[in-house]
Amino acid sequence: MSDDLEPDTAERRRLADAFMLYADEYLAELANTPASYPRIGPDVIATLATPPAETGTELSHLFGLLDRALETGIDTSSGKFLSYIPSGGIYAAALGRFLGAVTNRYTGGLHGAPGLVAIESGVVEWMCRLFQLPDTASGVLLSGGSIANLTATVAARSRLDPDFSRGVVYASTRAHHSVVKAATIAGIHPDRVRMIDVDDALRMEMTALQRAVADDQAAGLVPMLIIASAGTTDTGTVDPLAESARIAADCGAWFHVDAAYGGFFVLTDRGREAMVGIELADSITVDAHKSLFLPFGIGGLLVRDRGDLIHSMEGRGAYMQDVPSHDVLPNYFSMGPELTRPARGLEVWLALHLYGVQAFRQELDRMLDLAASTAAALRAVDGIEVMATPELSIVAFRSIDGDQATEAIARHINDSGDIHVSSTTVDGRFLVRMAFLSQRTDATTAARAVQLVSESAVDRRRSAG
Ligand SMILES: *Cc1c(COP(=O)(O)O)cnc(C)c1O
Repeated sequence: MSDDLEPDTAERRRLADAFMLYADEYLAELANTPASYPRIGPDVIATLATPPAETGTELSHLFGLLDRALETGIDTSSGKFLSYIPSGGIYAAALGRFLGAVTNRYTGGLHGAPGLVAIESGVVEWMCRLFQLPDTASGVLLSGGSIANLTATVAARSRLDPDFSRGVVYASTRAHHSVVKAATIAGIHPDRVRMIDVDDALRMEMTALQRAVADDQAAGLVPMLIIASAGTTDTGTVDPLAESARIAADCGAWFHVDAAYGGFFVLTDRGREAMVGIELADSITVDAHKSLFLPFGIGGLLVRDRGDLIHSMEGRGAYMQDVPSHDVLPNYFSMGPELTRPARGLEVWLALHLYGVQAFRQELDRMLDLAASTAAALRAVDGIEVMATPELSIVAFRSIDGDQATEAIARHINDSGDIHVSSTTVDGRFLVRMAFLSQRTDATTAARAVQLVSESAVDRRRSAG
């Protein structure tokens, strides 16, 4: 037996101490390190991409390389990271993942570690209840929102088995690109995907959706899947969920809600109000690595009727359809595309039970507060136009002087190294966006972000005048 590959107690402790020290120092420094780094150089790439040697390398040397690897790009774990969708990664969940990997028990099927499957199914049931799905509901934790959207698309598609060639998919022009990608992977022809216009508030336009559905029906096509967003990635906009559900019910389409970003805001009063109608969904995509602050790699798909999911993923019929979900533990291999998979439920369960649901609700409320106060502060900056009052935790804004001035603001913020923001385009116009979704982001960071915007706006106006 290899001493290296199966270390003894003393060696395990030595390794663990070194890793813990690295983690502690990393997190202690996080508040002082920049939110973004200069472009990675070819020499760094070459060093980091060096293939492994025949003989081992000192751990301290590898940690030195890891330092260099981490000092690149944009730091998604920083509280100063307001780009895209931030995700701090709760430490206890990271440790939960560590234990999941150490114990390395099998959760693909029920037989491997039914206890861990019970833990995951409890987490999934809790999620189903959050969204007020009925008792028939169930779901599975997956690697992220993209795979959840793909799984939902295949489940919706299977309702038209064996021939889905006439089935049509609908989503708004502001929907996440993964829904179109999911349709592509699921073999749905691009001619069968409709991108529906949005209204001035960037919500999917219901009259346009209705018209597209009617046109398709008149042409002999079958509305198969309507996808609404509960929090778009760009602006955090929630589509009219109840109305979308009604249209889907009327035409017999599967109603999917992509709540990868916004989903867990349902824990808050404001979020629940914004997402009224989500309880009517046939399926919901959530991302615990977004609005539950967990480390990357945990999304989930919740379905109204577990039989639908099993029918599409099992391939052998809905043999468990009549079994009440609380009477039996699921085989996760028959609820998603994966067979062997990490014990994702463990880290979600650990974080939720360790801190209690209230801790997450309060943190999400704090994110909503930060977005609201930042939007108000930006409105007070001369020459800044805020897109709309944020529905969730994303603020999008621009300069009234046009795209070049708006781009200059984004550059000024990002060049500071202090805060990092990303941008989007709406109606052909450039927008800067700030997303609040990290337990490490505080009011000081938000104030600094506003300060950088006003500096840039003032500079610009001074040089123009
Ligand atoms: C992030 C996101 C996705 C994709 O989720 P991943 O976890 O990155 O795969 C899908 N939809 C929306 C609305 C998102 O914000």
